[in-house]
Amino acid sequence: MPHAVSLLRAARLARSSKPFLARGGFKRDRCADCRLSVTHCMCALRPSVPTRAGMCLLMADVEPLKPSNTGWLIADMVADTFAFGWARTETDPALLTLLKDPQWQPFVVFPGEFVEPERVVHSVNLDHAGDAQPPKRPLFILLDGTWSEARKMFRKSPYLDALPVLSLELAQISQYKLRRSRRDDHFCTSEVASLCLSLAGEELAAQTLEVYLDVFSHHYLQAKNQQPIDWDDAAHQRLRELAGQPPAPVLA
Ligand SMILES: [Zn+2]
Repeated sequence: MPHAVSLLRAARLARSSKPFLARGGFKRDRCADCRLSVTHCMCALRPSVPTRAGMCLLMADVEPLKPSNTGWLIADMVADTFAFGWARTETDPALLTLLKDPQWQPFVVFPGEFVEPERVVHSVNLDHAGDAQPPKRPLFILLDGTWSEARKMFRKSPYLDALPVLSLELAQISQYKLRRSRRDDHFCTSEVASLCLSLAGEELAAQTLEVYLDVFSHHYLQAKNQQPIDWDDAAHQRLRELAGQPPAPVLA
């Protein structure tokens, strides 16, 4: 069953009149499930970590088409990932329904310095629907695009205006090297999701997503440079450890 980002990509491709040519992309046969060239497929490494958190990706127009988009990795791992193409003039009714669903407690993830201070939170405190009810599930709304696209999405989406803004304290420097960005602290989307999972107390999911990004980055760059995969590098080993799997057999 294709996940939300995969479905959004297919819908966006169906609307395109001309093929999308990824900058620096490679033209060899791609695996439909991980977008990598079939020689560098990482589907066998797809992690499965149960989490109460949900992810809601609002994606700038061409974002689902980019082979380097990391929202895809979030959808690979977080079962309740929702993805919507963002447009200023129209809003998918399914998005509005999701935001009103009482099981979720939505947070818009955005830098607090650009927001009225009364909306900003730095931690994930979950409400209870009732005394005997379990706490609500956090739903992290991630604005997936360039920094200027994310700012536009934030400013021009009235349905987000009433929601709290979760501002991450980004002390670390992004290790993300696939895409250049104008801001040093502009983390890629799956890194932001990983930090959100950590704030929600879901440390295993947070770490797994973080190392899954490292594995993806390795496969992506090796495919681009037509180099073989090192299946036993630190990232692959760590991903197996987190999944509780034995080390890869040594090939004679
Ligand atoms: Zn694959």
